[in-house]
Amino acid sequence: MTLRQLPPLPARRLPPRVEHRLAVELNATVVGRTDLTDAVMVLRVRPDEALPFAAGQYVSLGMMLDGRLVQRPYSPASSPAQRELELLVRHVRGGELTPHLWRLANGDRVRLGRAKGLFRLEDDDERQHLFVATGTGVAPMIAMIGELLQRPSQPKITLLHGVGHQRELAFADRIGAWQRFIRLMKAKQAQHPGNDLELLGPVNVFFNRLPYADDLPHWGVEDYWATPAEMVASNGGDCEDYSIAKYFALKELGVPIRRLRITYVKAASLNRAHMVLAYYPEPDAQPLILDNLSDEVKPASQRPDLTPVYSFNDEDLLIARAGERGFRAGSALQVRIWRGLLDKLEQELKY
Ligand SMILES: Cc1cc2nc3c(=O)[nH]c(=O)nc-3n(C[C@H](O)[C@H](O)[C@H](O)COP(=O)(O)OP(=O)(O)OC[C@H]3O[C@@H](n4cnc5c(N)ncnc54)[C@H](O)[C@@H]3O)c2cc1C
Repeated sequence: MTLRQLPPLPARRLPPRVEHRLAVELNATVVGRTDLTDAVMVLRVRPDEALPFAAGQYVSLGMMLDGRLVQRPYSPASSPAQRELELLVRHVRGGELTPHLWRLANGDRVRLGRAKGLFRLEDDDERQHLFVATGTGVAPMIAMIGELLQRPSQPKITLLHGVGHQRELAFADRIGAWQRFIRLMKAKQAQHPGNDLELLGPVNVFFNRLPYADDLPHWGVEDYWATPAEMVASNGGDCEDYSIAKYFALKELGVPIRRLRITYVKAASLNRAHMVLAYYPEPDAQPLILDNLSDEVKPASQRPDLTPVYSFNDEDLLIARAGERGFRAGSALQVRIWRGLLDKLEQELKY
């Protein structure tokens, strides 16, 4: 008997218990989307529960279409430390899934499957890394580069990225832009050594261009202080991250830390606690304020909307007093979360 002659199998329904188990659970929510071109978008998806993956791996993204789950693999470009997954997706005309992905809007529910794949970085690999990608193939490499930038060994990284449209480059370029910026600022500093003021404006504006993101959706925890590399690689942060990133960038550019103070303030415009970076040209001088709410670096006297509460840097912690410079309240290590950040930085980049 040939295969064609086999009698058809009798139709059999699965027991209800099994059918129930097969019911698909939509377990993630679309929280954002940026269209780089008509055919390429960055889709941000937040899983209900943390979805562990290693940089370079892929996850499946699915939607219910006509009562069945249609899913395809996509490689997150985001850091595994981030709660939200950032996916770089190309619209494939006539494809089964991507035309439907194009209709997704914030709040829509989707299915994310667990991470798989052997395309991963090796631990402690100090060799130079060369990444070559076209189009959306760059996504897992962005996650990997983000991780490499945080390694103490700082391996050299080269990325060759071929795209059909220049706007697609912007996504992969965000890390390179930061490194070029620091190089440019170092050149400026070498030309006019000690001219801190020249650096304040560009550093303020550079970091202010990164999108604001609250800790809970971005990192999955109530309060997270990102290192500068994490903020740039994850493409976002909250007011604390902006201030910390500016602090470390200026410190790296040679500004003495005694002139810099990360300052907790009450912000009248926000009606809540806020963080800024204050620059003191002299110990008792009026500070200049670097704030993610303003691209202009203004003297504190022109920021009546801010009331300082306490401030700190690598050296110490000051509690502010109305109209006074503040009194020393001990070591900055008393700011618990600051200590945690410094520990992370020790392990991380020296950019
Ligand atoms: C490990 C892995 C990781 C992936 N990561 C990503 C990612 O990060 N971003 C991303 O956009 N895609 C990624 N893909 C591809 C993705 O899984 C889907 O194949 C793609 O989105 C098309 O799905 P679709 O259902 O719309 O098309 P389908 O109905 O599956 O395919 C329709 C036709 O289009 C072809 N096709 C599929 N993809 C493309 C393409 N990019 N250009 C032209 N033709 C294509 C198929 O071969 C098929 O002939 C990845 C695939 C794998 C295997």
